[in-house]
Amino acid sequence: ILVRELESKPVIVTHPDEDIKNVARKLVENNINHIPVVDEKGILQGIVTSWDIADAVAKGKTSLRDVMTKKVIIAREDEPVEVVARRIDKYDISGLPIVDSDNKVKGIITAEDISRLVGKKI
Ligand code: SAM
Repeated sequence: ILVRELESKPVIVTHPDEDIKNVARKLVENNINHIPVVDEKGILQGIVTSWDIADAVAKGKTSLRDVMTKKVIIAREDEPVEVVARRIDKYDISGLPIVDSDNKVKGIITAEDISRLVGKKI
């Protein structure tokens, strides 16, 4: 099974200049833990998680640009899910933005999505 065939939630994104409070609200309201940060063309710039928001609050940071992780581990639509599962394990993360060849964000794949897939098979 390939990444593009996996059922997943629609991706919620944010922008580098978005207020951290709004980002926190998006995380809570959508019950998610990862938000890809994109520019006006939808091109991936970073990723922000609830952990990053907690860190920002702890350190008194207010700019998302300073808080997001800029070197993002990604997934591609034509990759086998198994390969992505191994990447998740290797980097100790739990969500990867799915991007096309222009680095445009198409979706997100999380450890939760993969667990659901494995759960269905058993
Ligand atoms: N093990 C936890 C998890 O799976 O979420 C925490 C991992 S680590 C301490 C959290 C950091 O990883 C955050 O700073 C976050 O921005 C970063 N991170 C999360 N997903 C990422 C991804 N796909 N690529 C790069 N960094 C990522």
